[in-house]
Amino acid sequence: MTTALIIGGGIAGPATAMALHKAGIRSVVHEAYDAAADEAGAFVTLMENGLDALRAIDALEPVLDRSFAAAGVDFTSSSGRDLGHVPMGDGRPGGATPRTLRRASLYRVLYEEAARRGIDVVHGKRFTGATTTADGRVVASFADGSTAEGDLLIGADGLRSTTRRVIDPDAPGPRYTGLNTVFGYTRDSTAPASPDGYRMIYGKRSFVGYTTAPDGETWWFVNMPGPELSRTEITGTTSDQWRERLLALFAQDRTPAAGLVAATGNTMISSNTYDLPRLPVWHNGSMVVIGDAAHAAAHAGQGGSMALEDSVVLAKCLRDVPGVPQALAAYEGLRRERVERVVAMSARMGDDKMPSRLKRALRDAMMPRLLARGRPGTPGWLAGHRIEWQEPVTVS
Ligand SMILES: Cc1cc2nc3c(=O)[nH]c(=O)nc-3n(C[C@H](O)[C@H](O)[C@H](O)COP(=O)(O)OP(=O)(O)OC[C@H]3O[C@@H](n4cnc5c(N)ncnc54)[C@H](O)[C@@H]3O)c2cc1C
Repeated sequence: MTTALIIGGGIAGPATAMALHKAGIRSVVHEAYDAAADEAGAFVTLMENGLDALRAIDALEPVLDRSFAAAGVDFTSSSGRDLGHVPMGDGRPGGATPRTLRRASLYRVLYEEAARRGIDVVHGKRFTGATTTADGRVVASFADGSTAEGDLLIGADGLRSTTRRVIDPDAPGPRYTGLNTVFGYTRDSTAPASPDGYRMIYGKRSFVGYTTAPDGETWWFVNMPGPELSRTEITGTTSDQWRERLLALFAQDRTPAAGLVAATGNTMISSNTYDLPRLPVWHNGSMVVIGDAAHAAAHAGQGGSMALEDSVVLAKCLRDVPGVPQALAAYEGLRRERVERVVAMSARMGDDKMPSRLKRALRDAMMPRLLARGRPGTPGWLAGHRIEWQEPVTVS
């Protein structure tokens, strides 16, 4: 029986393990930390395509139970003008409504589901390197001195992937997009509630989004242009300091953003935003990268969904295509064009968040008319993507 070593217990790691389990392939997930990934305090939205990938591995229901609907977005200009509404999905019948949940909750659900299916997840295993044996098997090494052997190794180790560099020492690293993000949570906001959806605010020097959870708590984020934050700035900047900086950033706006931030206590966390537009080498015969390790999109709200799609497609390839190298090549063939298209779209979305003065004026004038014509929120090719588990993968 084939055994896969999975490196990384974030989103793609446990999802791949469940997909492989469904395909009859054994795997063990090796996670560096004692608990799941960092920046877990942030929240994520899973789009229809990501939810569909969860459905394909019978893991949709528990995610629906821990999340709430993100049906649409209302846009506001820096002057507080309503710019219109757009649905979050592509609006096709049968598609699940996108869902918002804490990143930590998503990790927890995936771990619980994996455990329920008897999948091994081992913690405290920081992958450091791997060698391939004469018969094509992989021996992985970990920082604690231990090793593990399998028929293939799947690098689901995120943006700063070690596997990526093991496969190709010249692999590019993530690219800073020029925007950093602060997240926060408050129950005392004066901002109008936005249940079942988001309000997105185009500030003069910021882009702000918020939604209201079913228990009344407001979850918000602010994107702002600036130099890449150092690790010390990320861990050492207090909520009071962020509040002061953000309120200065909103000084020229007349929107609910200042009220949100002013009402937020000690819950603010910050991060940089990165993408990874094109990784030349995805696999080397017995090792492969998936999720953020292979491609990362910073602004499309699709990173998690893409990681879930990767997981299901890779498992189908390993199920249907004889030979590990051939299956990995088939996986790349099915995924590369789509994920690179998403990263390119995401980069354009990032640019649109901080346009020039002229472009901002044009957007404020044109957007209400465009949205009134019923433009779909997410393009059909993206949100409408469906993966049929039963449909076999064939290679020509
Ligand atoms: C602040 C923030 C907000 C986001 N919002 C959204 C959103 O709204 N919608 C969306 O779809 N996506 C969003 N994303 C992106 C999404 O979280 C990622 O695309 C997704 O987590 C990628 O999944 P992954 O499994 O590839 O990587 P990760 O979830 O990052 O998991 C990688 C795992 O590998 C582990 N690891 C790393 N190195 C090693 C090693 N050497 N050995 C062993 N284990 C290792 C890490 O500890 C981690 O657990 C957001 C990301 C951030 C940072």
